[in-house]
Amino acid sequence: MKKEALVIKFGGTSVGSGKAFIRAAKIVADEAKTRPTAVVVSAMSGVTDTLLGHVGTTGSSGRMTRRASERTPTVAAREGLSELHRTLYTRHLIAAREAVAEAHFPNVERRVLALLGELMEKMSDEGMASDTRAAEVATHGERLSAEILAGAIKSLGVDASVAEDPIATESEADGEADICPDATRERCRRNVAPILDGGSVAVVPGYVGRSPEGGITTLGRGGSDLSATALGRGVGASEVWIMTDVDGVLSADPRLVPDASLMPKLSYREARLFAELGAKVLHHKTMEPVADAGIEVRVGNTFNPGCDGTRVSGIEDGEGVRCVALRRELRFEVPCASGKKSEAAMVVGIGVPSSDDLSRGRRSLRKAGIPVLHSGSAPAGLVFSVSEEHAEAALRTLHDSLVAGRERSLAGEAVA
Ligand code: ADP
Ligand code: ASP
Ligand code: MG
Repeated sequence: MKKEALVIKFGGTSVGSGKAFIRAAKIVADEAKTRPTAVVVSAMSGVTDTLLGHVGTTGSSGRMTRRASERTPTVAAREGLSELHRTLYTRHLIAAREAVAEAHFPNVERRVLALLGELMEKMSDEGMASDTRAAEVATHGERLSAEILAGAIKSLGVDASVAEDPIATESEADGEADICPDATRERCRRNVAPILDGGSVAVVPGYVGRSPEGGITTLGRGGSDLSATALGRGVGASEVWIMTDVDGVLSADPRLVPDASLMPKLSYREARLFAELGAKVLHHKTMEPVADAGIEVRVGNTFNPGCDGTRVSGIEDGEGVRCVALRRELRFEVPCASGKKSEAAMVVGIGVPSSDDLSRGRRSLRKAGIPVLHSGSAPAGLVFSVSEEHAEAALRTLHDSLVAGRERSLAGEAVA
């Protein structure tokens, strides 16, 4: 490869409809004019849940088990399969009709039908171990969307090909396989580099890996983010973009803290901690492949591409709590006001806390009438434990006093 490559990943809502595929394809086509570009794509929103629902697993550690008698294909099961085929065919073909030009549509339709045929075979293969079958089935969502995205990119006059699974992993354990960096580099050299060197966009189905034996594995729920950074390291990319449905990494979960704000910069360390503590916008292992290699990650919004989003790099910014994460349902039990026992929750302030942030956080909780069970500094950041009933209020209060409070005082300093 002459120029350093860019990897762009699109999540499920970014390819949730024909219009969304067109938007994603335009972002790719623009970048591909200036540098070698590889794309990682998730399943259309909701498709992985549908597929895992049909094989009876959650796709994470909470697998459901089925009795042997329940595994015998019944008329009902066969009807379920044809209904699934119909649902997936309709959803993908409607999107493809909208996003793919006439000249490329027959090929995309043929590929979608072939993948659905293969999916039906896997679903009815009772001889396969249930974990293997779950991985084979679940990853078909990504395979289907990769074909449509490749067709949509070609429709904009930029050549694109779907690459054969470049991510090498260990065998899958508990719904999530670990990446093998050297074998991934080798698979990238064989399956991705020739596409990029030929001047085409390489489209890679996210979430899926190959074990040393060549079997299908998954990287865990939300694992396409990790596919993108592992691919970035594998092809020696200079940048990885994770395109989603919000402007970037926000200072708290926006569903719980409506005034959470965009963080323009984060260090690998901060992004890793935030993801490990459950910030849904990034799979918990996303930063692993890029941190050592020093590859910058941009988290951006497919629906607002002009916004630069969040840049994640090795640079640690100055003092201050940048974001707050909430861990709920901690297993130890604590007394609560009603006299019964309740579970505890923990709010963690991530960043570079100043010497008075801990007391400022405690004061704000006290003022809000939220009893603090424990507080202190931990390697992850400042930790405040409260009973579960106060979890969300504590998150909002600490966001206001530690994150928004710091932003207010910085703005004040700038004005003064
Ligand atoms: P994708 O399908 O693109 O992978 P996800 O649904 O996995 O997207 O992640 C994006 C969602 O994560 C956002 O819509 C948002 O509701 C949620 N989210 C939770 N915490 C955060 C956070 N700190 N910053 C941004 N988004 C967050
Ligand atoms: N489609 C997979 C999931 O829903 C992987 C991903 O979207 O990142 O978990
Ligand atoms: Mg995600």
